[in-house]
Amino acid sequence: MTNSPMTKLVDSWNREIDYLRIAVTDRCNLRCFYCMPAEGIDYLPKKELLSYEEIIRLATVFASLGIKKIRLTGGEPFLRKDFISLLRNLKGIAGIEAVHITTNGVLTAPYLDEMNEIGVDGVNLSLDSLNRENFHKITRRDEFDTVMKTLEGLTHRGFNTKINMVVMHGKNTHEVIDMAQLASDRNISVRFIEEMPFNGSEMAASQKNWSHTRILEELTKAFPSLKKLDSDPSNPATLYQVAGHLGNIGIIPAFSRTFCGACNRIRLTATGTIKNCLYDEGVLDIKSLLRSNKKDDELREILVATVQKREKDGFAAERNRKVDKNISESMSSIGG
Ligand code: SAM
Ligand code: SF4
Repeated sequence: MTNSPMTKLVDSWNREIDYLRIAVTDRCNLRCFYCMPAEGIDYLPKKELLSYEEIIRLATVFASLGIKKIRLTGGEPFLRKDFISLLRNLKGIAGIEAVHITTNGVLTAPYLDEMNEIGVDGVNLSLDSLNRENFHKITRRDEFDTVMKTLEGLTHRGFNTKINMVVMHGKNTHEVIDMAQLASDRNISVRFIEEMPFNGSEMAASQKNWSHTRILEELTKAFPSLKKLDSDPSNPATLYQVAGHLGNIGIIPAFSRTFCGACNRIRLTATGTIKNCLYDEGVLDIKSLLRSNKKDDELREILVATVQKREKDGFAAERNRKVDKNISESMSSIGG
């Protein structure tokens, strides 16, 4: 008997999907103003979150369709009980070559040794300011010292570490250069992200002022030796190197969306919905399917068809939103 070739997730623009981002919770212990209103969002009742069994089943189905990389995000993933056991189980799925985490670093430090032992492949740490008071202003919580401890713990153990800084006009733009300097003596990537309109309210984001080109201009002024690096086309970050720096710098045009042509990712939100694009409204209620006795083969068939409906880019996905035209979702239930 010959093995039939693996069915893959390929959209109608011929982009192959091999990267799944999973928001394991919508809960968070910070209140970053670009992500959530001060009073928080209406959290889902626990039973509306996918159970670990459901996540593992789905990840296994996705792996059989060619997903190789998983990122666990949220909300804050370390708020989910026994998160480490989920990491361990996902690392054990055949075909999953890499498991990454995005975290705010508040609860992360005590788990670093276990993460190392499990073989977590990379950690993205969100850090929007290097000034304690400004960090407090942006996140509405006084956790700067804890997060810096996590950063030192990550670099000390040699984790593949990326810093995510959302660049916000008038809020932390004066810190862009200091943040870039973090990569001078650390082998990390410091990534500057354009602000997107996912703050859980109708409040407009100020991304117009600080686009990726503006960020690059500022960096070039401060670091005349800045050189563009080659990077994987599916990487949304354009990477740069400052001569003599151990690490590198990335710029992510998350609002300008210049990278959609090579997009290789799909999202599973905390509500158990599949998103073909960060900017769509959610295209499949996979949670209901998981809870309705569907067999794995049926799920596979539905997922293959769902991916084919993917829009060409984030602008088309946004235009085709039917209900929530002015995006008012919180990034905390999407996962970034
Ligand atoms: N709580 C974790 C953290 O903050 O790292 C994981 C979830 S958070 C939603 C994932 C990423 O999305 C973070 O790096 C965060 O900075 C980014 N993010 C959240 N809201 C955003 C927005 N409106 N624009 C751009 N990036 C955003
Ligand atoms: Fe929480 Fe992350 Fe959103 Fe900040 S960006 S409120 S840490 S989910």
